[in-house]
Amino acid sequence: MIRVNKKVCFISGAGHSGSTLLGLILGSHSDSFYAGEARKTMLLQNKNSPESKRVCKICGPTCPIWQDFTVESHDLYEQLSIKTGKSLIIDSTKNSDWLNTQIETLRQTSAQSWLIFLQRDGRAVINSRLRKYPTQEAKRLINDWLEQIELTEQLFANFDGPKIKIHYEELATEPTCITQKLCNFLEIPYQSTMLNYYHHAHHPLGGNSGTQFLVVKSQHDRLKQPYLQLAAQHEAYYQNHPPEIRLDLRWKQELSPTVRTLFEEMGGAINEAFKF
Ligand SMILES: [Zn+2]
Repeated sequence: MIRVNKKVCFISGAGHSGSTLLGLILGSHSDSFYAGEARKTMLLQNKNSPESKRVCKICGPTCPIWQDFTVESHDLYEQLSIKTGKSLIIDSTKNSDWLNTQIETLRQTSAQSWLIFLQRDGRAVINSRLRKYPTQEAKRLINDWLEQIELTEQLFANFDGPKIKIHYEELATEPTCITQKLCNFLEIPYQSTMLNYYHHAHHPLGGNSGTQFLVVKSQHDRLKQPYLQLAAQHEAYYQNHPPEIRLDLRWKQELSPTVRTLFEEMGGAINEAFKF
């Protein structure tokens, strides 16, 4: 049988680095499907896990892609390509065990893996995590970030296929240029409509609710009863946010001097490569 899935693009890096935005942009190409964090397919149809973790973030339990989806083999991406009719699948899972396993599995097939390491100023990442998990200690969040960066650097160094490092801040300030660059990298034709990612249908598992909310808001007429709900502390920012790509630098106002000092001590040196 001729394989339908030709390419898989992994968006790696630390959580809260803009991978949902990048996934939605790349997933707006006419021949690609953004699965979100494909590792969450392990939870599909598992009634013991919370519903919000195992359904499409946009459509909820009645999603045309995930509603009845059961993983049938190790070759998840071929199954997804058959289901969606798209030859390029985008996966933004951050877990390095998952990524290593999937990359190894794809090696046994005729499909090609591509790796993007999406980088963002660590101070912005910590600020975003503190906003989401206000009761967590900054020290622990900084440690988690450092660990994730180290694991991703290892993955990137060991990966022998096409790979590229992209800064979230570059993507958000020069979306056309960076999207063109990534299309060249992925060897797909650039389509200007990709930048209007909020006009396209998406079915992500997991990922950033704020960014996904911009899709829901723009498609209000079609998605009469969207599944996605924003937590109160995010509502105002995203309600007032235009759907167009915009650089999020809230950390510059929000991150306290104490956390900044701690971050400099613990992660300042590593952050040199990520600084914006
Ligand atoms: Zn859906």
